[in-house]
Amino acid sequence: MSPDFVSLVPRQASGWRVVVVGGGASGVLMALHLLRESDSQRVILIERTGVTGCGVAYGTRDPAHLLNTRVSNMAAFGDDPDHFLRWLRATTDPEACPFSFVSRALYGRYLAETLANAPGRERLTCLRAEAVSIVRGASGVTVQCADGQSLLADSVVLATGHKLPRPDAGAALSQPWGASDDIDPDGDILLVGTGLTMVDQVLSLLDSGHRGRIEAVSRRGLLPQPHADAAPASIAVEEVPFGAPMSRLLRWLRDRVAQEQACGVDWRSVVDGLRPHVQALWQALDPGARARFLRHAVTRWEVHRHRMPPASADRLNRAMQSGRLVIRRAAFVGAERVSGTEVLARIRSRDDGSEEIRNFRRVIDCRGIRRDPGEHAGPMVHDLLASGQARLDPLRLGIEVDADCRVIRADGLPHAGLFAIGPVSRAAFWEITAVPDIRAQVAILSRSMAKAGQSSHGAGRASAEKEGVS
Ligand SMILES: Cc1cc2nc3c(=O)[nH]c(=O)nc-3n(C[C@H](O)[C@H](O)[C@H](O)COP(=O)(O)OP(=O)(O)OC[C@H]3O[C@@H](n4cnc5c(N)ncnc54)[C@H](O)[C@@H]3O)c2cc1C
Repeated sequence: MSPDFVSLVPRQASGWRVVVVGGGASGVLMALHLLRESDSQRVILIERTGVTGCGVAYGTRDPAHLLNTRVSNMAAFGDDPDHFLRWLRATTDPEACPFSFVSRALYGRYLAETLANAPGRERLTCLRAEAVSIVRGASGVTVQCADGQSLLADSVVLATGHKLPRPDAGAALSQPWGASDDIDPDGDILLVGTGLTMVDQVLSLLDSGHRGRIEAVSRRGLLPQPHADAAPASIAVEEVPFGAPMSRLLRWLRDRVAQEQACGVDWRSVVDGLRPHVQALWQALDPGARARFLRHAVTRWEVHRHRMPPASADRLNRAMQSGRLVIRRAAFVGAERVSGTEVLARIRSRDDGSEEIRNFRRVIDCRGIRRDPGEHAGPMVHDLLASGQARLDPLRLGIEVDADCRVIRADGLPHAGLFAIGPVSRAAFWEITAVPDIRAQVAILSRSMAKAGQSSHGAGRASAEKEGVS
């Protein structure tokens, strides 16, 4: 059961009103925490698809697409770590285990059902609409929707999430989700990228009865590491060299891993033990150091930090051993569709620089989520940027926000009633894409909004007065 959507927001009784734009995992987590933190706040969740909890990550219907996080880490509430496990046991599998990796589709259902049954849901309205602009005025923030509706709120939270690659004009590159539908079972496939999206594609292809060869290319040819049983190491804040040059930071990390390994501890313990410090580490880096991290270290960090479930790793290994799957260190130069069933792809080897042009039945873009929100933004983010109500960070990772998730305007001041969470706020926090990080972020934000709502001089109105908006 999902919450019912309306296409028009009914007139609401007065009360503190928060509008959340985007009903993927971040928006649903935000709405859940807002309902829990206050018993008077009204919440409007705007989602253009009319589906809650799914977004890019949990919208897949393929049961082979597993969470890459254990059940025990995926509860909607950090202070109730068994919440997801109890839901799984009550609805799906009475034997569900906290350490297992279940399908992402199930997780989307969990979020939607949790929202539909949330205490206080009578204060929630789910609106099927696309938000296209945001205007700050004396009495609050107005969200304008594509269908002409406008909603006045005390605070607005952007949870608009990931941007997928745009389909290219000639459609030589297929989009990842749903790309293995109608595929020639004997045709060769090229996957561009070797990360977790590539893992999804290989599993879908294997399950669809595809028998051809699958080739996956990326600049470094690195695969996500598999999970293993390893408890996070305890890393004290004093140990971490915050603000150190990137080379020293990496040396420290390698030494820390070596120390643990000398005592028989797995490297994963150090990576997971570092996780509580990653946002502070990122914030201590100057823009140059952040850029160096993105250029030289991000791929290695990601394959160790965002790991794949052991069952997926086993299937990939078997496919590689049998020759069905080949992983190559190579650059994808481009692709051209030559007929309805053939795509020519140009690939340059990273080993000897040689270039080849090859014929594939399909070339699938598995390079993951796009980072540049300027280039891949929808109308609302375009409008925010154009009107100076928001700005991008210098590395174009996302919309700039301060430590309290307030969107930074073009003039450098925080916007009084506009906040951003989840991947949209990546520039400030970096590790803010996985559910455990997002739920911690929304817990803090919803608490401060509940406090603001309790006072008739809440944050949005008070700041509007301070800003002199009339
Ligand atoms: C393939 C994949 C697998 C992942 N697996 C895991 C995992 O196993 N464990 C884990 O912890 N994390 C995982 N993550 C990370 C993760 O949970 C995501 O970062 C998270 O789902 C982000 O959700 P979101 O709601 O911010 O963004 P999105 O999923 O992108 O959702 C944004 C929503 O906003 C809507 N929207 C956007 N603009 C507007 C607008 N203007 N008006 C109305 N609606 C709008 C969109 O329709 C969409 O539904 C995964 C991520 C991906 C991509």
